Amino acid sequence: MSVSIALFTQDLRLHDNPVLHAARSAADRVVPLFVLDPAVEGAGFAAPNRQAFLADCLTDLDASLRRIGSRLVVRRGEPAEQAARVAAEAEAGAGAGARAGVEAGAGARVGAGTTTVHVAAGVSAFAQRREARLREVFGDRLHVHDASLTVVPAGRITPAGRDHYAVFTPYHRAWQQVPRRTVLGAPRVLDAPSGIGSENLLLTGPLSPALPPGGESAARERWRRWDVDGYARVHDDLAADATSRLSPYLHFGCLSPTELVERALRHDGEGARTFVRQLAWRDFHHQVLAARPDSAHRDYRARNDRWHRDEREAEAWRQGRTGYPIVDAGMRQLAEEGWMHNRARLLTAGFLAKCLYLDWRIGAAHFLSLLVDGDVADNQLNWQWVAGTGTDTRPNRVLNPLRQADRYDPDGAYVRRWVPELAHLPGPAVHRPWLLDPTPDYPAPLIAPDALTSRFRRARGLD
Ligand code: FAD
Repeated sequence: MSVSIALFTQDLRLHDNPVLHAARSAADRVVPLFVLDPAVEGAGFAAPNRQAFLADCLTDLDASLRRIGSRLVVRRGEPAEQAARVAAEAEAGAGAGARAGVEAGAGARVGAGTTTVHVAAGVSAFAQRREARLREVFGDRLHVHDASLTVVPAGRITPAGRDHYAVFTPYHRAWQQVPRRTVLGAPRVLDAPSGIGSENLLLTGPLSPALPPGGESAARERWRRWDVDGYARVHDDLAADATSRLSPYLHFGCLSPTELVERALRHDGEGARTFVRQLAWRDFHHQVLAARPDSAHRDYRARNDRWHRDEREAEAWRQGRTGYPIVDAGMRQLAEEGWMHNRARLLTAGFLAKCLYLDWRIGAAHFLSLLVDGDVADNQLNWQWVAGTGTDTRPNRVLNPLRQADRYDPDGAYVRRWVPELAHLPGPAVHRPWLLDPTPDYPAPLIAPDALTSRFRRARGLD
């Protein structure tokens, strides 16, 4: 009896899952496996909010697998090593005779087993290392499936003479022309793996109080209830809070982006088109990171910045106590929900990197420590875009937080929701409390309103 392993990574779903589909076609028995890798925790990527969300995702995936006769095997350790152990156990259990042939440990080479391993192609340096290690252990029994985590696989479209697109607009044009693969259904039945042990997830650390529930079931429910038609009109309205909030589900792969595009485009309108364009942004950042894994830490386009250093200012920003209510509202939403509205991400990040002129890496690290959708490609490259070290074709623009507030929170409702000390201030006056009577609990502006662009402009030689 043949055995295959569906190694789940950021594709924690049954619907439209090319990895699971291929593993089923390849063998009589499929072991659905998820490996908790201590290296992810060691690198600081396993923030408590995301670990809690991940635990929900795995519980939900296990429940869905049990409904079709299977279950999820969870292991902790180095993924290739764990996959090899599971392969050996599965082959013994299936009576295949052959062993996976791998004694776990560094330097293990291709073994003599028969189990095939199926995994989604990832783009981060971490994912690329994992894939290389799996290849060392399983050789050509490893099958890497693209178009699982993004709609268009990283590297599938490239401009002439380059390995990736550095500008979004031409990328988007090309992206729209790529034929999409057929959306796959969820399996109706899957044989249970026998004789294979599983571990529990260990959770540590304080959580944001209002985290969303993780998992494919919650993701599909969210999509069912959400109105894509109004998206173009309201997506920048901070108080309306009318975006999809699907980002954590996309990050963990509880939803397939390809399926989302297909479903959205059944609604023929501006809302669907704008939403699909946002999904193209996600693919865009993934293809940049795949080509330049070091852009997770290094300036994509160095501008010779000599960032201002001031830990007191950085901490005021983290705490949501900058004295700019619109910035503080965003930072407090992040702390409370582990999520922040895109417009708020843009203006809080712009405030740190351009108004305070602090190194974007300080802000990106704080976002990653809390965001439930925290993603190396989307977080780091959006930060670089805002800081003017990334792919923005206008790297020296500064988003003035007061103008942003007037435009995207015209009545001040978003600020009043998140900054209770100012909830008594009426209408748009809430954006400039320093013009009113002193508010004892609320700080004065960290930087003067007429000096919001000075540090940045001076440093970049623009004045
Ligand atoms: P919607 O407006 O409903 O958009 C639908 C989907 O499109 C999102 O779920 C997301 O997957 C994708 N998307 C939308 N905008 C972007 C974008 N600019 N870049 C990439 N994908 C996008 N998104 C993350 O998923 N993870 C992050 O770690 C992350 N960090 C960010 C940091 C900064 C400084 C900024 C400015 C943006 C960041 N974003 C990140 C992008 C964006 O803010 C979020 O994807 C979005 O706010 C999630 O809310 P939503 O699901 O309601 O989005």
